Amino acid sequence: MSRFFSEKYASLSPYVPGEQPQDRKYIKLNTNESPFPPSPLAQSEAAKALPRLELYSDTMSAALRRELASFYGLKPEEIMPVNGSDEALDLAVMTFCDEKHPALFPDVTYGFYKVASSVYGVPYEEIPLDPELRIRPEDYSSSGKTIFLANPNAPTGIALPLKDVETIVASNPETVVIVDEAYVDFGGESALCLIPRYENLLVVRTFSKSRSMAGARLGFAAGNAGLIRDLDAVRFSTNPYNVNSITMAAGIGALRDEAYTQKNIRTITENREFLTRELRALGFELPDSRANFVFARLPGFDGEKLYLALKERGILVRHFSSPRIRDYNRITVGSREELAVVIQTLRSIIKEESK
Ligand code: PMP
Repeated sequence: MSRFFSEKYASLSPYVPGEQPQDRKYIKLNTNESPFPPSPLAQSEAAKALPRLELYSDTMSAALRRELASFYGLKPEEIMPVNGSDEALDLAVMTFCDEKHPALFPDVTYGFYKVASSVYGVPYEEIPLDPELRIRPEDYSSSGKTIFLANPNAPTGIALPLKDVETIVASNPETVVIVDEAYVDFGGESALCLIPRYENLLVVRTFSKSRSMAGARLGFAAGNAGLIRDLDAVRFSTNPYNVNSITMAAGIGALRDEAYTQKNIRTITENREFLTRELRALGFELPDSRANFVFARLPGFDGEKLYLALKERGILVRHFSSPRIRDYNRITVGSREELAVVIQTLRSIIKEESK
């Protein structure tokens, strides 16, 4: 830390993204990326944007807003495209949280909510998941706080039924409920359909997972037009050209190639069921996942030790050291070939250990 670092950040512990080591080639199953390339149409639309890069991107991403609105059955003024869904979450903390509206989220969830709250000095409360790592909707009723829910939750992969999401939104009419649907395309129930009925619901989506565009940085927030205007006001004050022209064009291409996305989702879902079956056959315990990853532990085997043993053998998964989940590893659902190697490698690690 230099002597110039602002004191207000002195106690910050930054979000730690999944590692991206360059020392060797890994089977990389640690950041929930797609095993498939972006849609060919997304790629060709992106290429078409290249000759116009001397111009700034459209600050409103108007063409993309219109395209998203018609795709999801919403109005353009109910949508704000963002530079990856992390930007929407960041803006939501800036826009809807303060001393009077602290943030509220589960103790086991996407780590970014806590980090974003800390960076803006927003007080936050964490509610423990139940012993099966599930969200109890009743814990969130009439909270008086700005609620962040990942659905399906990360890193557990467990989905909350839409009726439970609605119960939480309906019981907090005085505060905003942000539903982070990064993984919803893999089998969750989206809350987008509730937007016309609840002015306090903000849904956040990403193109990083089911649409294979993590490197393009694209997501969107959807909600009542009033919420979107508030977010846009803060966005214009922080990053008005937030979505670049190449990404905007790629996003439109991806939306127009829904068959490609659906085919990949089907394959990933089948691969997830294969991985779940095989892991359970090896003795792992894991909740049913509705995401493109599974969250698994092997009773009697230290989670970090397993993570390191896999890494040594060229397979990267994600291990979290927080006490409640330190026995687990989160494994992204990759290609069938990658998963076959994972299972084979786990089998040999377990065998070596039991000698
Ligand atoms: N929400 C959740 C629950 C996530 O796991 C991630 C991926 N790290 C994000 C949001 C952010 O995704 P992106 O910024 O790539 O859209």
